[in-house]
Amino acid sequence: MSADKPASEKIRCDACPVMCYIADGQAGACDRYANEGGQLVRVDPLTIIERRQDDSGKLVPFLDSNKEWDGELVIPGESFITAIGAGTTYPDYKPAPFIVSREVAGIDMITVVTEGIFSYCGAKVKIDTDRHLGPERNLVRVEGEPIGHVTTGEYGSQMLSIGGVNHLTGGGKKEGRVTCKSLMDLCNRKSVEMTIDDGSTVVVEAGKAPIINGAVEQRMRVGCGSATVGMFASQWKGLVDEVVVVDDHITGVMSEHQAGKVIGWQATGIKVKGRRSTPGRYFQVAEPGTGWGGTDINDPLLILDKFNPKIARPGQSLLMVSTTGEQFAYFELDEDLTPRQQEMPDRLLPSVRRIEENCEPALCSVLFMGGAGGSLRAGVTENPVKLTRSVKHMLTHITCGGAPVYVWPGGGITIMADVTRMPEQAFGYVPTPALVAPIEFTMRRADYQALGGHMDHVMPIEEAVKGVTGRQNDHVLKGQRHLHQAPGNPWPTRAVHFGWSDRESDT
Ligand code: SF4
Repeated sequence: MSADKPASEKIRCDACPVMCYIADGQAGACDRYANEGGQLVRVDPLTIIERRQDDSGKLVPFLDSNKEWDGELVIPGESFITAIGAGTTYPDYKPAPFIVSREVAGIDMITVVTEGIFSYCGAKVKIDTDRHLGPERNLVRVEGEPIGHVTTGEYGSQMLSIGGVNHLTGGGKKEGRVTCKSLMDLCNRKSVEMTIDDGSTVVVEAGKAPIINGAVEQRMRVGCGSATVGMFASQWKGLVDEVVVVDDHITGVMSEHQAGKVIGWQATGIKVKGRRSTPGRYFQVAEPGTGWGGTDINDPLLILDKFNPKIARPGQSLLMVSTTGEQFAYFELDEDLTPRQQEMPDRLLPSVRRIEENCEPALCSVLFMGGAGGSLRAGVTENPVKLTRSVKHMLTHITCGGAPVYVWPGGGITIMADVTRMPEQAFGYVPTPALVAPIEFTMRRADYQALGGHMDHVMPIEEAVKGVTGRQNDHVLKGQRHLHQAPGNPWPTRAVHFGWSDRESDT
């Protein structure tokens, strides 16, 4: 906003509660709307997804097509109007920017398209690594501001819970601003560097390997130590007397483990520190860290006590390996039954490589999570609860930028979407602060009518593809961006998404 121009030359944007007055040639506080010659313009192009077919009717593979609309009618295959660039109608006292109709396999379908303003939203971040990032419940920070916390770890992955209404609105102004910016960047697949209290620094970028304390994580572990023992027991049989798979959670010891017992593995007199859970499975062999198997040790012998002299014998061999196979060492007991490291024998190298081979590449996954159960529903229907019920009854199918979402059970409309399945730059923000995310609701015309839809705002999809703005028409669109359907994403209007579908005749 320009302060030196008279207010009369400014126009007011009412697409969010900030209600910017925007001077000609300037953008509003979120950079999403601008005043161009006295007209309110949504500056990012409307994103339209196309499902193309070749002459034989097969789907054309995804290409990174990214073109501006040139004014020509573009319906080479099927088109789906996403909410990216469509505009917001907060607080939704008016209908959504686009309510488009189309016929799909003889059924009249409606899609309601709007960019939602999400105050209740966040990201669930899965980081494939064994390494200890920080204690559960500890704060995750960006620029020193708390933006989330470490939550329950999953199999082979550390988990962060980022954002949420308390960080967006419940802390200081800077906390809200930094949280919103970090969320937007994460969801737009940009890298975000975070620090964890009493833990590590981690750089997260959706679909890329995590960078932990400056080192790129290569592999996700093959399994916990116990699982690794189970998977490879028979491959080690006859090659070595004992195997220990070092893991912060469950360290596996071959000779004691059920997997070793059933194939006749002999006792070795080994003694492992930590808390014995069941035979051959040990918890808490060391502290969590960034060393072997997510422990804080770099010398695996630190987790062993003295061998039992009644069972162990000089020359007995021992392989110690981490759950990713990145760290390994071979030992033989000397006359005092003390393990002495030896060069790794060739016979054991293939088994260590096999562990590595079975490790998947370490990635960061970012799932946007938001609550669409508020006023946003009024842009769809005059009776909001009917939309909630329609979603629960599988009469309305939700997508985010054309990508599939998971709808949580229970009350409200709480959704999760993998940001890597959405088009790039799908997310924006408003300075309230809140995240702006695309959301589309698709249903049969009859179901839309039944839930009190804004029927007089329905327009044929062909008009929207031609560049006509939505019926509520309170802003101008900048243009269009046409993308091919992302591989693996189901087409949003397919009958299979709906409870009424006859799956035999799904299109
Ligand atoms: S912040 Fe953006 S959406 Fe909100 S009123 Fe200003 S220009 Fe409009």
